[in-house]
Amino acid sequence: MSRPSILISGASIAGPTAASWLAAAGWDVTVVERFDHLRDEGQNVDVRGTGREVLRRMGLEDDIRSHHTRETGMAFVDEDGSTYASFPAGAGDSDGSPTAELEVLRGQLARVLYDHSASSSQYVFGDHITALHDDGHGVDVEFDQAPVRRFDAVVVAEGSRSRTRRLLFPDTGVHELGLFAAYLTIPRAEDDDRQWRIHVGGNGRLVHLRPDNVGTTRAMLSLKTDIRGLDRLDRDTVVGVLRATYGDLEWETPRILAALDDAPLYTDQIAQIRLPTWHSGRVALLGDAAWCAGPFGTGTTSALAGAYVLAGELGATPDDIPAAFTRYEQILRPQTDRAQTFVPHHGHPRVEWRRKVMRQNLRLIGGPIGRAVSRVVPLVTPPPVNSIELPDYSPSALTQP
Ligand SMILES: Cc1cc2nc3c(=O)[nH]c(=O)nc-3n(C[C@H](O)[C@H](O)[C@H](O)COP(=O)(O)OP(=O)(O)OC[C@H]3O[C@@H](n4cnc5c(N)ncnc54)[C@H](O)[C@@H]3O)c2cc1C
Repeated sequence: MSRPSILISGASIAGPTAASWLAAAGWDVTVVERFDHLRDEGQNVDVRGTGREVLRRMGLEDDIRSHHTRETGMAFVDEDGSTYASFPAGAGDSDGSPTAELEVLRGQLARVLYDHSASSSQYVFGDHITALHDDGHGVDVEFDQAPVRRFDAVVVAEGSRSRTRRLLFPDTGVHELGLFAAYLTIPRAEDDDRQWRIHVGGNGRLVHLRPDNVGTTRAMLSLKTDIRGLDRLDRDTVVGVLRATYGDLEWETPRILAALDDAPLYTDQIAQIRLPTWHSGRVALLGDAAWCAGPFGTGTTSALAGAYVLAGELGATPDDIPAAFTRYEQILRPQTDRAQTFVPHHGHPRVEWRRKVMRQNLRLIGGPIGRAVSRVVPLVTPPPVNSIELPDYSPSALTQP
């Protein structure tokens, strides 16, 4: 009997994780990635709760830990760099600290997951899906470059701005959160410490610096704004907008703005994806393409957990793909729906009195008294990363990849 075949579109976090588990369950797996290489951009992402448990079940936790950015916590700083509130890194899988116990650069995590799946799955870089024809028994897939191929199932793990999703759900609800972020990698300065330092600049502006494990420093400029489309501007224009917007701020802002000419730069208009269903027939969405909640500490974890559950359910009933997709969605929803409510709406104060209130609150909970109290009662709400029980697929359907 021939093996069931599956196409996964997108080689970042969710795609390669699903590929590993599906190949281990006996599926013939092809992964197509639009870029002609594995993308190693991106900054620090946290792996928590169910996501960390998936890495553990894959035998990859120690490998990922060896790529830890060694961030020791988060500190809020004034114009002169002095700290007024600080939050040490978490000490377990799932506590509420803004810095998780396990922080890793997105590109390094993607590389480990790719390496783990590359020998058991076929990767095709530099191509993408242009049409899907699901006749109820299989899916004929048209590509931009390759000839048409037929698969038993297709998984779309293309991130929040997925184009293939439009073929399935043309009316997808992209819910803009009114936040724009520019991420850049800048030369490390001698006094850059190992904390995630944030300066709340007012008028909806935050300036961030974070340590990495490759000898550079990660900077982020985040902005609350009603203007849409900043992420679609060309690089020179976006650099001009950032300089005009942040030019009056102090602390390390001038250094970051000066680095903009040469730094690797990635911008994102932050949005959530809200869909009534994630699948249609034999095609399913996975990861940010299905349920993006925004960059608030749950995206990578839910991508790992979702890939594991999707593969587990397909492995359990390869003969009834739509039923497996339905169960996958039922299991995951409680976590991803809660993740969408975990949005720091007041984190980018636009008016001065709100900035002052935020500073006072942070001083209270991130100062000595707050830290003492939080040893007894948590003062910071943890991201919802443990809202589901991960099924154990190992004995009946899947073995460890
Ligand atoms: C380059 C990059 C940098 C990122 N940086 C950060 C960061 O700094 N902080 C943070 O919190 N999150 C970041 N993210 C998002 C983070 O990876 C996700 O929130 C989360 O891990 C979920 O991953 P995912 O696999 O579902 O989607 P994503 O990580 O978004 O990956 C989607 C993948 O699909 C590919 N793709 C897109 N369209 C197509 C297509 N039509 N055909 C084939 N392939 C396609 C993309 O190139 C990408 O490799 C970044 C993502 C990317 C791609």
